Amino acid sequence: MITSARYCVSPRRLAAIGALLLAACGGATGSDGVPDVSTVDPARNAITADGMMRHIAVLAHDSLEGRAPGGMGEARTVRYLEDQFKSLGLAPGNPDGTYIQAVNLVGITSRPEGTITRNGVSRRLAFPRDYVVGTRYPVPNVSVTNSELVFVGYGVTAPEFDWGDFKDVDVTGKTIVMLVNDPPVPDASGALDSTIFKGDAMSYYGRWTYKYEEASRRGAAGALIVHETVPAGYPYLTVINSWGRENFDVNVPGGPEGRVQVEGWLARDAADSLFAEAGLNFDSLKTLAATREFRPVSLGSTANITVSTSLREVQSRNVVAKLDGSDPTLTNEWVIVTAHWDHLGMDSLHGGDPIFNGALDNASGTAQMLEIAGAWAKLPERAPRSVLFIALTAEEQGLLGAKYYAQNPLYPLAKTVANINMDGINQWGRTRDITVIGYGNSTLDDVLREVAARDGRVLAPDPEPEKGYFFRSDHFEFAKVGVPALYINSGSDYVDKPAGYGKQKRDEYTANDYHKPSDEVKPDWDLSGAVEDARALLEVGWRVAHLRTWPTWSAGAEFKAERDASLAGRR
Ligand SMILES: [Zn+2]
Repeated sequence: MITSARYCVSPRRLAAIGALLLAACGGATGSDGVPDVSTVDPARNAITADGMMRHIAVLAHDSLEGRAPGGMGEARTVRYLEDQFKSLGLAPGNPDGTYIQAVNLVGITSRPEGTITRNGVSRRLAFPRDYVVGTRYPVPNVSVTNSELVFVGYGVTAPEFDWGDFKDVDVTGKTIVMLVNDPPVPDASGALDSTIFKGDAMSYYGRWTYKYEEASRRGAAGALIVHETVPAGYPYLTVINSWGRENFDVNVPGGPEGRVQVEGWLARDAADSLFAEAGLNFDSLKTLAATREFRPVSLGSTANITVSTSLREVQSRNVVAKLDGSDPTLTNEWVIVTAHWDHLGMDSLHGGDPIFNGALDNASGTAQMLEIAGAWAKLPERAPRSVLFIALTAEEQGLLGAKYYAQNPLYPLAKTVANINMDGINQWGRTRDITVIGYGNSTLDDVLREVAARDGRVLAPDPEPEKGYFFRSDHFEFAKVGVPALYINSGSDYVDKPAGYGKQKRDEYTANDYHKPSDEVKPDWDLSGAVEDARALLEVGWRVAHLRTWPTWSAGAEFKAERDASLAGRR
């Protein structure tokens, strides 16, 4: 797809001209367009644990107030990022000559008041014990009134799998209650059927965003997902911490497309009671919901929920920096490297430490990106394609900085070759493997595999594909608009550590620190593995910035059709 233009002469011609020119050109270029890989090594070696830790110490410091979009925390964070990009020698990434892409958000603090009425008797729902709901509509209040509660199983409509949870039931104006994740359809042996909903992996049908989108398409007034820790992938406290506070959306006049007015989560215990009061058993309905025979079930009660809001318009910012490519015919083609700078801010609701420092999530990924940016600037020769580094805002509020960029790209998406995203780094030491989230999705895996092999490492698929991590960070917004995206995670096979160490550490982090004020820099952090990962990602980006053939989605990837449309100019 790219032109055959070269930034240097061909290997054959080089051989003919001789060693003099070879020296001038810095080594032979392979048939794939990538020069001698040793030329990237000085830049790789410029990435250090100390450098990364210096950035993390600043970004996770209490003075940045947990880096919420808007306010003093954002101002300090953005100033730091801009200063770093400048001092690393990167040019302003916005064509308007600044390091800023303004992102208009609206912050909505939702206060729900809800009752469930059965046989004329009402009882109040306790927030946040029983439920956590809010609205994405920028209006003073929204409500569902006398809205029948209907259980719709997993709330999935997937014609390609001959799956339809709603059957012929009209849920217009109703409040639907759904299960989280994909329907766990068993095969003959009782294992998950790999031919439907991606088997063990979570498909997009399993994501809460999909479920609210489907509720909206069906005209529901309200949408509640029953929280269960295992299929959700995180505890109920995480839902409270993420939803029971000011939430943001991209500020679109008239409100967001494809969202119901009242949406949220029902605690598992509250769901048990709600079903039991209707003479229903939650667990047996849940089993039934994993079959095609399931039909929606009325819960014999109505919901009255009013959500009052406090609104705050927030001008937030993506921070953007670039290095132009050296080849005039390729400099308008982009590799985009991303990490979200934001975290959850402050909250004194829990008592104790009010600051969500987000050291791992995602001061660490931002630091890793800054190290890669600095290394890129130290390359002895510019790559032929350009690279754009974006520190994205409002990831924690639903990938909003990335969503905004995808809807308002600074450079055409059809000229965007790949996205490489970082969200959380490995803080537990070196690994022999690199985990690829969404393994097999695109040919970026092949590039990473070659880089890893050079480092004596191997690729591993996501060990927890059921948790849907591919949909849970910013690269997903690039994937949704068709841009092939690479997102890696800590490997599992730790050097000099017992088997199971990686899983144990990951589980500890999820249980103890994920989206909690205790996500702080820990004395036992060992960034040696994060350095190796960063060097590998630098080299992947550098290779992609040279490759004669663009990375592509695999045949079965759900984003391929969008890419085809984008490249054909239909988007
Ligand atoms: Zn994150």
